[in-house]
Amino acid sequence: MSQVPRTGHASRAGLRLMHVHAHPDDESSKGAASTAMYVAQGVDVHVATCTGGERGSILNPKMDRPDILENITEIRRQEMERARDILGIRQDWLGFVDSGWPEGDPKPPLPEGCFGLVDVEVGAEPLVRLIREFKPHVLTTYDENGGYPHPDHIMCHKISVEAFHAAGDPERYPEAGEPWQPLKLYYSHGHSRPKAVALHEAMLAHGLESPWAERLETWPENPEWDARVTTKVHCSDYFGVRDQALLAHATQIDPDGWFFSIPREIQVETWPTEDFELVVSHVDTELPEDDLFAGITPDA
Ligand SMILES: [Zn+2]
Repeated sequence: MSQVPRTGHASRAGLRLMHVHAHPDDESSKGAASTAMYVAQGVDVHVATCTGGERGSILNPKMDRPDILENITEIRRQEMERARDILGIRQDWLGFVDSGWPEGDPKPPLPEGCFGLVDVEVGAEPLVRLIREFKPHVLTTYDENGGYPHPDHIMCHKISVEAFHAAGDPERYPEAGEPWQPLKLYYSHGHSRPKAVALHEAMLAHGLESPWAERLETWPENPEWDARVTTKVHCSDYFGVRDQALLAHATQIDPDGWFFSIPREIQVETWPTEDFELVVSHVDTELPEDDLFAGITPDA
């Protein structure tokens, strides 16, 4: 499957959505079904990928081979190209180097020159340029904790917020193109505890083994964070496209891993939405929403 249907929602043509992600595969593991849905409706979707994922561990045992590890940068580029085509998006690299996941106690310092250590203004500059070129109405990124605390995800948050506020200001980044102010900024709330609990309980109710039994024990409740969700986008018709995009990242995704052990029907009936938090809006909208473009009309 390389194309999703683009018919039936001509009214959405002219709308533009930009997602900022830390690594190749994040666009497929966070918000990919709503991405595919918006593309099918005629929205132009652009993904900006901060790093090349050079230090990502190989998470698929079948791909954990020396020849793959040696060529990981090129392989992850090819995987991203496949995912891009499956989702029907445009994609650009911001060109920073993956920080890797710091392991150990105490954690080792981040490697020199990595994305997690860049000055926020240096990191935001290429993103401001992309925003001014692509002119998105809506920008999404991670929350201030990165969604999970990978140094690249936290830096992705910082440069996205900086670029969202600066892109429309002619005094900021004057070398990076004509000002363009995106209208809404969202944080992705893809991996929430309430969603994990709901899927866990649904699996048990169907007499299946839940992949969350252990994870949930060490996953503290965070009702304040959960309550920040403002926008639930119904996109379960596109879970299949999401899965194909995920599988395109073959070094990062194990097709026999826990994620794919949850039957699609259970996901659809239990949690048919992808969830977001509206953080800034320059248009009138009423919360809660079910659409990232609520309050926005396409350019004349
Ligand atoms: Zn990532």
